[in-house]
Amino acid sequence: MEHVGGCHCGNIQAWLRLSKPPSDSPLRACSCSFCRAHQTRTVADPAGLFQVTAKDWRLVEPYRFGSGTADYLICRRCGVYVAAICETTVGVRAVVNVNCLTDRARFTQVPSTPDYDGETKEARLARRAVNWMPALVKR
Ligand SMILES: [Zn+2]
Repeated sequence: MEHVGGCHCGNIQAWLRLSKPPSDSPLRACSCSFCRAHQTRTVADPAGLFQVTAKDWRLVEPYRFGSGTADYLICRRCGVYVAAICETTVGVRAVVNVNCLTDRARFTQVPSTPDYDGETKEARLARRAVNWMPALVKR
């Protein structure tokens, strides 16, 4: 189950392997103000793998907000939000915006709408180590 995608202008390139078909992959539509502004639908499969690269990393904004513990990768040229990556105790972990994948329409699960407001930084990192997916960032 491999998926490809990236930002609109082609600078950021994403590759995703999931352990389930897209129609069975749980999605999240996080309720934070960043995700609502982007209307994200995200996937994070701990049994999968995400890889991301860019033709020009100078055009990739590693936007941080809130606890400042994850980089939200946004293309500075076309504005698309592709994925968030975070250093955890078990390595780099990511959550991927399925709307940036070419086969986005195949992800048909109704997203859950978690609200992580009020979570401590420690709890946040522990949750991501378990729930986010392994990631390779190719610079
Ligand atoms: Zn772009």
